[in-house]
Amino acid sequence: WLGLEDKVIIVTGGASGIGNHVVTTLVKAGAKAVIVDLTVETGEEKDGAYCVQCNVTDPDSVNAMTKAVLDKYGHIDGLVNNAGINKPRLLVDVKGEHPEYELDVKTFDQMFAVNVKGLFLVAQAVARELIKQGHGAIVNMSSESGKEGSQGQSAYSATKGACDSFTRSWAKELGKYGVRVVACAPGIMEATGLRTPAYNEALAYTRGVKPEDLSTDYSKQVPLGRDGKLDEVGNLVAFLVSDRASYITGTTYNISGGKSRG
Ligand code: NAD
Repeated sequence: WLGLEDKVIIVTGGASGIGNHVVTTLVKAGAKAVIVDLTVETGEEKDGAYCVQCNVTDPDSVNAMTKAVLDKYGHIDGLVNNAGINKPRLLVDVKGEHPEYELDVKTFDQMFAVNVKGLFLVAQAVARELIKQGHGAIVNMSSESGKEGSQGQSAYSATKGACDSFTRSWAKELGKYGVRVVACAPGIMEATGLRTPAYNEALAYTRGVKPEDLSTDYSKQVPLGRDGKLDEVGNLVAFLVSDRASYITGTTYNISGGKSRG
């Protein structure tokens, strides 16, 4: 139904979490998904997908990645620009109990390097190919917090606000070449690689709850009363990157169980 058979679709951060569920959904739909991640070896096969090692923050690595995909398949049909990191930090640690959970320049730079610079570098490299072909789609992985903000995650939310803004502008620039750009904004998802014990501890402190009470704190904010499942995001992304979404561009889709407040 999606018409994704044999489409070559790059998924950054495809080795773990949401990206990995996007990969398996695409593979099930018959696509040639490519896992692009720090943690894979170029040339290995994982979950039915070809892998290319890449650090999305490094322009040389990104250019080598697009070359490797073109050498393997000859063309690219789509990009899921998903690699991202999140370190919860307060603007000011008023209680003063955990100064390490106050936003510092190093943590700020790390999040902007992966979530904003990386998003831009991969989009630019892949867009050059999509423009040449006159066809293709880019799906940027945002977050519901990009629109709404989130207590303890201001820098992360700002990176996702940038993602939404890039999406709107790139859609305006690329529409005339037949290239769509859309964003997908998950709310609270079931555990991924990103939600490590260190992440949970930092987020719990910034929210004033115990780490073990985080999921109750989460589900109270979600009208559907549960965390999102990763394959629910996989389904939305597979639709958005497919030609079934042919008149959708320049917008961000929330997939958050109705949650609209961080
Ligand atoms: P995850 O940690 O499970 O996966 C992220 C992947 O990105 C990892 O495989 C990691 O190796 C890779 N990666 C990190 N830095 C990289 C780099 N510099 N170059 C290449 N690869 C790199 O995380 P996740 O929770 O699946 O998050 C995926 C995306 O979804 C992120 O953009 C995140 O902001 C977004 N998101 C997640 C949630 C959630 O609840 N998990 C909610 C909203 C949005």
